[in-house]
Amino acid sequence: MTPKENLPIYWSPDYVLKGGVETRTKSGPLAEILKSGEVPGIDLIAPSPVTPEELLVVHDKEYIDRLVNDQTPELILSIFSSTGGVRDALDSMYENGKAGSLSSGLHHARRDADMGYCYINGLALAALRAISKHGTRKVGVLDTDAHCGGGTFEIVGENERVRLADVSCNPYDIWRPDSDRHRLEIVNSASEYLGAVQRALHHLEGVDVLIYNAGMDPFEDCMTGGMPGITREILAERERIVAQWCEDSKTPAMFVLAGGYIGKNLDLDGVARLHLPTIREFARMRIGPKPKN
Ligand SMILES: [Zn+2]
Repeated sequence: MTPKENLPIYWSPDYVLKGGVETRTKSGPLAEILKSGEVPGIDLIAPSPVTPEELLVVHDKEYIDRLVNDQTPELILSIFSSTGGVRDALDSMYENGKAGSLSSGLHHARRDADMGYCYINGLALAALRAISKHGTRKVGVLDTDAHCGGGTFEIVGENERVRLADVSCNPYDIWRPDSDRHRLEIVNSASEYLGAVQRALHHLEGVDVLIYNAGMDPFEDCMTGGMPGITREILAERERIVAQWCEDSKTPAMFVLAGGYIGKNLDLDGVARLHLPTIREFARMRIGPKPKN
């Protein structure tokens, strides 16, 4: 199949709640910006929501039943739709070399519990689907959200086909690497940040595909997660480095949004705009699908 020129980005209005945490509101203004054509070379596509059964590869049935019974239908629709976007972006990546979904709230979710605004661990779901449906031998997960991705580690840390690289600037949800497949670095100052991203990518060398949790909450103006000195320019450079690495290593990649929160000088539209560099770099990237093994 010939890869499409445009970057497929999965999103639907079902992702968006009217209020509450940015995790479930910011994709609305971001989609509006994308619809305006500000970033050339993208296609916005509505995903099909996941079914509860699809979630049982990463979560306990009791937890999913409890979630569906206890939460509002709007929240369930948001979670199931945005998880469907992660699944569809993964499959699309195998055809196009690149894809994304405007999903967030994934990496803290445990097998049997929600945590830190995260209910379904879409990163673990994507990694396991890459293996089971697409037969991928080495799946890389890069997590640059400000907080650590302890949920992803809990669910797929033991899987020998999954390599994890986590660059954080906050010890929330810290996890302990227990294999040479794992790397976690918590930076102490902005000056260390891009070096840590380079080290994470070095750790992921040799993976067949990359699943990228592109958190923007390290940005200094984010009230949650922000680190002084991590500027828009540094985050734009981070996205350039990640995209260049994918191009140089011919590694198909998909992204999701992850963290990014309002602050004193940052409103919801500003948070949405924080995520544009990820989309610009992915739209620019040229990666053909890897030949099948
Ligand atoms: Zn975060």
